[in-house]
Amino acid sequence: MEDFKIQSVLLTGSDRGIGLGLVQQFLELLHPPQFLFATCRHPEGPEGQVLKEMAARCSKNARLVVLQLDVTDPHSITAAAKEVEEHLAGCGLNLLINNAGIAQETTLDSETAQSMAAVYATNTIGPMQVCQAFLPLLKRAAMKSNCPGMSCGKAAIVNMSSSYGSITALDEWQRHQDVSYRCSKAALNMLTRCQSLGYGTTGVLCVSLHPGGVKTHLGAEKGVLTVDSGTKKILDVLSSLSAKDNGTFVDWRGQRVPW
Ligand code: NDP
Repeated sequence: MEDFKIQSVLLTGSDRGIGLGLVQQFLELLHPPQFLFATCRHPEGPEGQVLKEMAARCSKNARLVVLQLDVTDPHSITAAAKEVEEHLAGCGLNLLINNAGIAQETTLDSETAQSMAAVYATNTIGPMQVCQAFLPLLKRAAMKSNCPGMSCGKAAIVNMSSSYGSITALDEWQRHQDVSYRCSKAALNMLTRCQSLGYGTTGVLCVSLHPGGVKTHLGAEKGVLTVDSGTKKILDVLSSLSAKDNGTFVDWRGQRVPW
Protein backbone atom coordinates (compact mmCIF):
# COMPACT_ATOMS: atom_id res chain seq x y z
CA MET A 1 0.00 0.00 0.00
CA GLU A 2 2.89 2.40 0.77
CA ASP A 3 4.05 1.88 -2.82
CA PHE A 4 0.63 2.76 -4.25
CA LYS A 5 1.40 5.60 -6.63
CA ILE A 6 -1.19 6.89 -9.01
CA GLN A 7 -0.95 10.09 -11.02
CA SER A 8 -4.60 10.72 -11.84
CA VAL A 9 -7.96 9.44 -10.66
CA LEU A 10 -11.53 10.34 -11.60
CA LEU A 11 -14.52 9.46 -9.44
CA THR A 12 -18.21 9.85 -10.19
CA GLY A 13 -20.70 10.53 -7.39
CA SER A 14 -17.99 11.84 -5.10
CA ASP A 15 -19.91 14.36 -2.99
CA ARG A 16 -21.08 11.90 -0.31
CA GLY A 17 -21.02 8.29 0.82
CA ILE A 18 -18.36 5.98 -0.56
CA GLY A 19 -17.32 8.48 -3.24
CA LEU A 20 -16.49 11.18 -0.71
CA GLY A 21 -14.74 8.61 1.49
CA LEU A 22 -12.57 7.56 -1.45
CA VAL A 23 -11.61 11.17 -2.16
CA GLN A 24 -10.44 11.43 1.47
CA GLN A 25 -8.48 8.17 1.27
CA PHE A 26 -6.72 9.13 -1.96
CA LEU A 27 -5.69 12.46 -0.45
CA GLU A 28 -4.29 10.68 2.62
CA LEU A 29 -2.05 8.35 0.59
CA LEU A 30 1.67 8.65 1.15
CA HIS A 31 1.83 9.56 -2.54
CA PRO A 32 -1.50 11.25 -3.28
CA PRO A 33 -2.56 11.55 -6.94
CA GLN A 34 -1.27 14.58 -8.74
CA PHE A 35 -4.79 15.03 -10.11
CA LEU A 36 -7.88 13.82 -8.31
CA PHE A 37 -11.01 14.67 -10.29
CA ALA A 38 -13.93 14.55 -7.90
CA THR A 39 -17.09 14.79 -9.97
CA CYS A 40 -20.66 15.25 -8.78
CA ARG A 41 -24.05 16.36 -10.04
CA HIS A 42 -24.20 19.60 -8.06
CA PRO A 43 -20.79 21.13 -7.30
CA GLU A 44 -22.57 24.31 -6.17
CA GLY A 45 -24.76 22.43 -3.67
CA PRO A 46 -23.90 22.00 0.04
CA GLU A 47 -22.20 18.65 -0.53
CA GLY A 48 -20.19 19.99 -3.48
CA GLN A 49 -19.10 22.77 -1.15
CA VAL A 50 -17.49 20.20 1.15
CA LEU A 51 -15.40 18.99 -1.78
CA LYS A 52 -14.41 22.53 -2.67
CA GLU A 53 -13.26 23.15 0.90
CA MET A 54 -11.20 19.96 0.75
CA ALA A 55 -9.72 21.18 -2.55
CA ALA A 56 -8.71 24.47 -0.95
CA ARG A 57 -6.88 22.61 1.84
CA CYS A 58 -4.89 20.36 -0.53
CA SER A 59 -1.11 20.44 -0.50
CA LYS A 60 0.88 21.52 -3.54
CA ASN A 61 1.64 17.96 -4.68
CA ALA A 62 -2.02 16.91 -4.88
CA ARG A 63 -4.70 18.73 -6.83
CA LEU A 64 -8.33 18.07 -6.10
CA VAL A 65 -10.38 19.28 -9.06
CA VAL A 66 -14.15 19.42 -8.50
CA LEU A 67 -16.15 19.00 -11.71
CA GLN A 68 -19.83 18.75 -12.61
CA LEU A 69 -20.78 15.36 -14.03
CA ASP A 70 -24.23 13.79 -14.13
CA VAL A 71 -23.81 10.25 -15.42
CA THR A 72 -27.27 10.34 -17.03
CA ASP A 73 -26.46 13.46 -19.06
CA PRO A 74 -24.20 12.81 -22.09
CA HIS A 75 -23.45 16.55 -22.48
CA SER A 76 -22.20 16.78 -18.93
CA ILE A 77 -20.04 13.68 -19.46
CA THR A 78 -18.38 15.05 -22.59
CA ALA A 79 -17.90 18.49 -21.01
CA ALA A 80 -16.17 16.90 -18.00
CA ALA A 81 -13.96 14.74 -20.27
CA LYS A 82 -12.87 17.87 -22.14
CA GLU A 83 -11.98 19.68 -18.91
CA VAL A 84 -10.07 16.67 -17.59
CA GLU A 85 -8.10 16.45 -20.84
CA GLU A 86 -7.14 20.12 -20.52
CA HIS A 87 -5.97 19.66 -16.93
CA LEU A 88 -3.94 16.58 -17.85
CA ALA A 89 -2.18 18.48 -20.66
CA GLY A 90 -1.10 15.51 -22.75
CA CYS A 91 -0.97 12.92 -19.95
CA GLY A 92 -3.50 10.14 -19.66
CA LEU A 93 -6.02 9.30 -16.96
CA ASN A 94 -4.89 6.36 -14.84
CA LEU A 95 -7.98 5.35 -12.92
CA LEU A 96 -11.68 5.86 -13.56
CA ILE A 97 -14.02 4.80 -10.75
CA ASN A 98 -17.67 4.58 -11.77
CA ASN A 99 -19.02 5.00 -8.27
CA ALA A 100 -22.28 6.95 -8.75
CA GLY A 101 -25.32 4.80 -8.15
CA ILE A 102 -28.93 4.80 -7.01
CA ALA A 103 -31.22 2.16 -5.56
CA GLN A 104 -34.98 1.80 -5.23
CA GLU A 105 -36.56 -0.36 -2.55
CA THR A 106 -38.83 -2.41 -4.77
CA THR A 107 -40.27 -5.90 -4.94
CA LEU A 108 -41.29 -8.01 -7.90
CA ASP A 109 -44.83 -6.72 -7.32
CA SER A 110 -44.06 -3.05 -6.87
CA GLU A 111 -41.36 -2.66 -9.54
CA THR A 112 -42.31 -0.31 -12.39
CA ALA A 113 -40.99 0.40 -15.85
CA GLN A 114 -40.11 3.94 -14.72
CA SER A 115 -38.03 2.85 -11.74
CA MET A 116 -36.40 0.08 -13.76
CA ALA A 117 -35.42 2.61 -16.46
CA ALA A 118 -34.21 5.26 -13.98
CA VAL A 119 -31.99 2.84 -12.05
CA TYR A 120 -30.62 1.32 -15.26
CA ALA A 121 -29.88 4.81 -16.65
CA THR A 122 -27.71 5.70 -13.64
CA ASN A 123 -26.16 2.37 -12.73
CA THR A 124 -25.56 0.80 -16.14
CA ILE A 125 -25.91 3.21 -19.07
CA GLY A 126 -24.14 5.98 -17.12
CA PRO A 127 -20.94 3.97 -16.48
CA MET A 128 -20.97 2.76 -20.09
CA GLN A 129 -21.09 6.31 -21.46
CA VAL A 130 -18.59 7.65 -18.93
CA CYS A 131 -16.14 4.91 -19.98
CA GLN A 132 -16.64 5.70 -23.66
CA ALA A 133 -15.91 9.39 -23.03
CA PHE A 134 -12.78 8.79 -20.93
CA LEU A 135 -11.42 5.82 -22.89
CA PRO A 136 -9.03 7.91 -25.04
CA LEU A 137 -7.43 9.30 -21.86
CA LEU A 138 -7.24 5.86 -20.24
CA LYS A 139 -5.63 4.41 -23.37
CA ARG A 140 -3.16 7.27 -23.41
CA ALA A 141 -2.19 6.48 -19.82
CA ALA A 142 -1.70 2.80 -20.68
CA MET A 143 0.37 3.66 -23.75
CA LYS A 144 2.62 6.16 -21.97
CA SER A 145 3.24 4.01 -18.90
CA ASN A 146 6.52 2.16 -18.38
CA CYS A 147 4.89 -0.18 -15.86
CA PRO A 148 4.62 -3.79 -16.97
CA GLY A 149 1.30 -5.69 -16.82
CA MET A 150 -1.92 -4.09 -15.66
CA SER A 151 -2.68 -2.02 -12.56
CA CYS A 152 -4.74 0.87 -11.23
CA GLY A 153 -1.58 2.96 -11.25
CA LYS A 154 -1.28 2.36 -15.01
CA ALA A 155 -4.79 2.41 -16.51
CA ALA A 156 -7.99 0.98 -15.07
CA ILE A 157 -11.77 1.16 -14.93
CA VAL A 158 -13.40 0.15 -11.65
CA ASN A 159 -17.17 -0.25 -11.83
CA MET A 160 -18.77 -0.04 -8.39
CA SER A 161 -21.08 -3.00 -8.38
CA SER A 162 -22.86 -4.86 -5.59
CA SER A 163 -23.25 -8.41 -4.34
CA TYR A 164 -26.97 -7.74 -4.98
CA GLY A 165 -26.08 -8.00 -8.67
CA SER A 166 -24.67 -11.50 -8.26
CA ILE A 167 -26.99 -13.94 -10.03
CA THR A 168 -25.46 -16.85 -8.10
CA ALA A 169 -25.35 -15.33 -4.60
CA LEU A 170 -28.61 -13.30 -4.66
CA ASP A 171 -27.42 -11.63 -1.48
CA GLU A 172 -30.19 -10.82 1.07
CA TRP A 173 -33.06 -11.71 -1.29
CA GLN A 174 -35.37 -12.56 1.62
CA ARG A 175 -34.98 -9.07 3.13
CA HIS A 176 -34.57 -6.83 0.10
CA GLN A 177 -35.76 -7.76 -3.37
CA ASP A 178 -34.70 -4.43 -4.95
CA VAL A 179 -35.28 -5.87 -8.41
CA SER A 180 -34.24 -2.86 -10.52
CA TYR A 181 -31.06 -2.40 -8.48
CA ARG A 182 -30.09 -6.08 -8.78
CA CYS A 183 -30.74 -6.11 -12.54
CA SER A 184 -28.78 -2.88 -13.08
CA LYS A 185 -25.74 -4.24 -11.22
CA ALA A 186 -25.90 -7.64 -12.96
CA ALA A 187 -25.89 -5.72 -16.26
CA LEU A 188 -23.02 -3.56 -15.01
CA ASN A 189 -21.08 -6.75 -14.30
CA MET A 190 -21.64 -7.88 -17.88
CA LEU A 191 -20.44 -4.47 -19.03
CA THR A 192 -17.24 -5.01 -17.03
CA ARG A 193 -16.71 -8.39 -18.71
CA CYS A 194 -17.25 -6.85 -22.15
CA GLN A 195 -14.91 -3.96 -21.35
CA SER A 196 -12.24 -6.35 -20.09
CA LEU A 197 -12.26 -8.05 -23.48
CA GLY A 198 -12.58 -4.89 -25.56
CA TYR A 199 -10.31 -2.55 -23.60
CA GLY A 200 -8.04 -5.11 -21.95
CA THR A 201 -6.06 -5.54 -25.17
CA THR A 202 -5.10 -1.85 -24.95
CA GLY A 203 -3.78 -2.31 -21.42
CA VAL A 204 -6.82 -0.95 -19.52
CA LEU A 205 -7.69 -3.17 -16.55
CA CYS A 206 -11.47 -3.52 -16.01
CA VAL A 207 -12.95 -4.74 -12.72
CA SER A 208 -16.32 -4.86 -10.94
CA LEU A 209 -16.01 -4.11 -7.22
CA HIS A 210 -18.46 -4.84 -4.41
CA PRO A 211 -17.61 -2.34 -1.65
CA GLY A 212 -19.27 -4.34 1.13
CA GLY A 213 -22.16 -3.10 3.24
CA VAL A 214 -21.20 0.51 3.99
CA LYS A 215 -23.20 2.89 6.18
CA THR A 216 -24.27 5.51 3.64
CA HIS A 217 -27.57 6.90 2.40
CA LEU A 218 -27.79 3.96 -0.01
CA GLY A 219 -26.35 1.34 2.36
CA ALA A 220 -28.52 2.58 5.26
CA GLU A 221 -29.24 -0.12 7.83
CA LYS A 222 -27.71 -2.82 5.61
CA GLY A 223 -24.26 -1.29 6.11
CA VAL A 224 -21.83 -2.75 8.64
CA LEU A 225 -18.67 -0.90 7.58
CA THR A 226 -18.17 2.81 8.25
CA VAL A 227 -17.32 4.95 5.24
CA ASP A 228 -13.81 5.41 6.64
CA SER A 229 -13.03 1.73 7.24
CA GLY A 230 -14.83 0.59 4.06
CA THR A 231 -13.02 3.00 1.78
CA LYS A 232 -9.64 2.19 3.39
CA LYS A 233 -10.23 -1.44 2.44
CA ILE A 234 -11.23 -0.46 -1.09
CA LEU A 235 -7.93 1.39 -1.52
CA ASP A 236 -6.06 -1.70 -0.31
CA VAL A 237 -7.81 -3.73 -2.99
CA LEU A 238 -7.20 -1.13 -5.71
CA SER A 239 -3.49 -1.10 -4.88
CA SER A 240 -3.29 -4.88 -5.35
CA LEU A 241 -5.26 -5.35 -8.61
CA SER A 242 -3.29 -6.77 -11.53
CA ALA A 243 -3.76 -8.47 -14.92
CA LYS A 244 -5.13 -11.62 -13.28
CA ASP A 245 -8.09 -9.55 -12.05
CA ASN A 246 -9.05 -8.18 -15.46
CA GLY A 247 -12.73 -8.97 -16.10
CA THR A 248 -13.43 -10.20 -12.56
CA PHE A 249 -15.80 -9.27 -9.74
CA VAL A 250 -13.99 -8.66 -6.45
CA ASP A 251 -15.10 -7.41 -3.04
CA TRP A 252 -13.64 -5.02 -0.47
CA ARG A 253 -11.47 -7.82 0.90
CA GLY A 254 -10.06 -8.61 -2.53
CA GLN A 255 -12.02 -11.87 -2.69
CA ARG A 256 -13.85 -13.01 -5.81
CA VAL A 257 -17.64 -12.57 -5.81
CA PRO A 258 -19.52 -15.19 -7.85
CA TRP A 259 -21.18 -13.76 -10.96
P1 NDP B 1 -24.83 7.20 -1.65
O1 NDP B 1 -26.30 7.22 -1.88
O2 NDP B 1 -24.31 7.62 -0.34
O3 NDP B 1 -24.08 8.07 -2.76
C1 NDP B 1 -24.40 7.92 -4.11
C2 NDP B 1 -23.63 8.93 -4.92
O4 NDP B 1 -24.00 8.75 -6.30
C3 NDP B 1 -23.95 10.38 -4.54
O5 NDP B 1 -22.79 11.15 -4.62
C4 NDP B 1 -24.93 10.79 -5.63
O6 NDP B 1 -24.94 12.15 -5.93
C5 NDP B 1 -24.33 10.03 -6.81
N1 NDP B 1 -25.24 9.97 -7.94
C6 NDP B 1 -26.50 9.46 -8.01
N2 NDP B 1 -27.00 9.64 -9.24
C7 NDP B 1 -26.05 10.29 -9.96
C8 NDP B 1 -25.96 10.76 -11.28
N3 NDP B 1 -26.98 10.64 -12.15
N4 NDP B 1 -24.82 11.35 -11.70
C9 NDP B 1 -23.78 11.51 -10.84
N5 NDP B 1 -23.81 11.11 -9.56
C10 NDP B 1 -24.93 10.51 -9.13
O7 NDP B 1 -24.40 5.71 -2.02
P2 NDP B 1 -23.05 4.89 -1.70
O8 NDP B 1 -21.93 5.80 -1.47
O9 NDP B 1 -23.38 3.86 -0.71
O10 NDP B 1 -22.89 4.12 -3.09
C11 NDP B 1 -21.79 4.30 -3.98
C12 NDP B 1 -21.74 3.10 -4.91
O11 NDP B 1 -21.49 1.91 -4.15
C13 NDP B 1 -23.05 2.86 -5.68
O12 NDP B 1 -22.75 2.49 -7.01
C14 NDP B 1 -23.68 1.70 -4.94
O13 NDP B 1 -24.53 0.92 -5.76
C15 NDP B 1 -22.45 0.92 -4.48
N6 NDP B 1 -22.71 0.04 -3.34
C16 NDP B 1 -22.92 0.56 -2.09
C17 NDP B 1 -23.15 -0.29 -1.01
C18 NDP B 1 -23.34 0.22 0.38
O14 NDP B 1 -23.52 -0.61 1.31
N7 NDP B 1 -23.31 1.50 0.65
C19 NDP B 1 -23.18 -1.75 -1.18
C20 NDP B 1 -22.96 -2.19 -2.53
C21 NDP B 1 -22.72 -1.31 -3.55
P3 NDP B 1 -26.04 13.21 -5.36
O15 NDP B 1 -25.45 13.70 -4.06
O16 NDP B 1 -26.10 14.25 -6.43
O17 NDP B 1 -27.33 12.47 -5.19
